[in-house]
Amino acid sequence: MNDYGITAADQDFFAGHLETFVPANVFDAHCHLYRHSDLAAPLPALVAAGPRIADWTSLVRHMDAIIPRRSYSGLAFPYPAVGADFQGANQFLAEEIARHGRLRGEMMIEPAMDPEFIRENVRRCRFSGLKCYHLFSRSKPTFESPIEDYLPEEQIRIAHEERLAITLHMVRARALADPVNHQYIARMARKYPGSRWILAHAARGFNPYHTVEGIEALEGIGNIWCDTSAVTEPGAFEAIVRTLGIDRLLYGSDFPVTHLRGRCVAIGDSFLWLSAENTNFAARHAPVKPVLVLLESLRALKQACWNLRLSDSHVEKIFHGNAAQLLAAQG
Ligand SMILES: [Zn+2]
Repeated sequence: MNDYGITAADQDFFAGHLETFVPANVFDAHCHLYRHSDLAAPLPALVAAGPRIADWTSLVRHMDAIIPRRSYSGLAFPYPAVGADFQGANQFLAEEIARHGRLRGEMMIEPAMDPEFIRENVRRCRFSGLKCYHLFSRSKPTFESPIEDYLPEEQIRIAHEERLAITLHMVRARALADPVNHQYIARMARKYPGSRWILAHAARGFNPYHTVEGIEALEGIGNIWCDTSAVTEPGAFEAIVRTLGIDRLLYGSDFPVTHLRGRCVAIGDSFLWLSAENTNFAARHAPVKPVLVLLESLRALKQACWNLRLSDSHVEKIFHGNAAQLLAAQG
């Protein structure tokens, strides 16, 4: 799963399917900036195959090779991995934010962090939000963790008081369809209206039916958004726009996951990432040539926009306006 190189076929795919869909201004609400030196060995193959220093300049360059000639801005976080140097990774991101006016950032947090330590760091480093992750959960296996085990209420209170975004990649097998997840999100978002929730991966709708089933639990709550990152089927995007509204979907790339080659598909009540590592792409009917996850995700978003009969100005909101509104409301 580590084909980092972009091929002419990828570029042709963009030109043929996506060039007229992606607007001129792109705000990437979910991307990772990191240095190999802040991550513990062994590096994930995808990260090892990419830049040693994934700073904003290199991210924009990598995106421009796939989505050319767009004006790019974004909200980034460190790469969350066990053994990561939190302080080094957050400091690197803070320096990138200071250097680039188009870049906002979220502090990578873990549940043991003192809330006042988080507040002090957010203020000093001018972070716009918090990035929690299940790998740092207090409970094992982390893929079964309830949200409070990796995002305790005291940290949400800080987000509320400092008017911060929280990017949440929820886990548990049924994601948003699981009451343990959607009840906690609904309760916390209502109790702390200053916090701005961004549910990553279309509320982890890698199986879209989970988001379709669970999204109504969040209807009418004013401080919840979802990003599109790394989701390669349209159903979850459609459910979010229909239920939360057109203002609540944010384009995100999930760089470096953008550079995986393959896609994620719903199977039964779960999902599976297909790549050359676990899938025999040989087929008799025609050659199967997987493209980058970023291209699959953009195509799924295009399909969702078409299914919802969205206008160009709606599409522009997903790619830029909604995130600008979310972050402007922080000030
Ligand atoms: Zn991510």
